[in-house]
Amino acid sequence: MTNLKPLLLILPLGTATLTAQAAEPTTIQAEKQVAGYYQYQAGDIQITALLDGTNFMSPSLFKDITQQQVQQILKKYYADQDKGVQTSINAFLINTGKSLVLVDSGAASCFGAHLGSVLTNLKISGYQPEQVDTILLTHLHPDHVCGISKDGIANFPNATVYVSDDEAKYWLDSKQAAKLPKEKQANYLGTVEKIKQAIAPYQAKQRFKTYKLGDDIQDFKVINTAGHTPGHFSYELKTKGESIVFIGDIVHSHTVQFDQPETAIEYDIDPKKAVETRLKQFANFAKNGQTIAAPHLPFPGIGHIYSADGKSYQWIPIHFKD
Ligand SMILES: [Zn+2]
Repeated sequence: MTNLKPLLLILPLGTATLTAQAAEPTTIQAEKQVAGYYQYQAGDIQITALLDGTNFMSPSLFKDITQQQVQQILKKYYADQDKGVQTSINAFLINTGKSLVLVDSGAASCFGAHLGSVLTNLKISGYQPEQVDTILLTHLHPDHVCGISKDGIANFPNATVYVSDDEAKYWLDSKQAAKLPKEKQANYLGTVEKIKQAIAPYQAKQRFKTYKLGDDIQDFKVINTAGHTPGHFSYELKTKGESIVFIGDIVHSHTVQFDQPETAIEYDIDPKKAVETRLKQFANFAKNGQTIAAPHLPFPGIGHIYSADGKSYQWIPIHFKD
């Protein structure tokens, strides 16, 4: 005969006391995840993916696609959308042996308390912010730049920050706002305010620098991937037998924009160009098999891009290795 016992709620040890007679069924609470960094070895360099946090996007942000199509794709990929389309915000720390380079820096407090864990996760991963000598920004949106400083003080006091010349001009030229449609000006100026605050301590020490296409920074080749923003760039690093591309925001969704890569997103400043850039780069990555590191694909955001037909794509995340 089966030994009938009241159903006990199994709680993790250390977080709650086990009670022998749990009278009422209780909800199992979701705990905060521990992992906030992931290390990936590429030849003789080490990449540490740093989680800034999880964001939720409204499905209505996707453009040139019906909401019905969006819903179908999200369902196909089992994309949890209780609170919106789940999106990671990642930054990457690259130890080349000669240099410690941070690509993008997360949102810090620019978008609320659910983001801003890059600095904490960097320390937990065993590095110190003082060791970072170079910061490469793919563009100047706050979820990439805000993490470089806090309250006017540089989080990475020994680092030089690089962004493309085109990007700096777009956000830092005082005449730019007047060139935009009226309804976009307030939003633009709000973003500029956040950017200026983040870069100020680096500018004060002449540690804010710009580059042009053709320049190399610490062995990283710069690739023009404009569209999402006017001076958006990606960075490619070649190591023994492997090429890694830090793509930035050429894609925001591993579901909708892989299935239908011609779908733009509201955040794109030039949606048409953003789509052209994605199509061009995805075709290149699918053909040549570069390892991809992406700030908005599911953490750790490292993997490969595959296409069976050259029209739609699939995100192939790296396998977890311990
Ligand atoms: Zn972004």
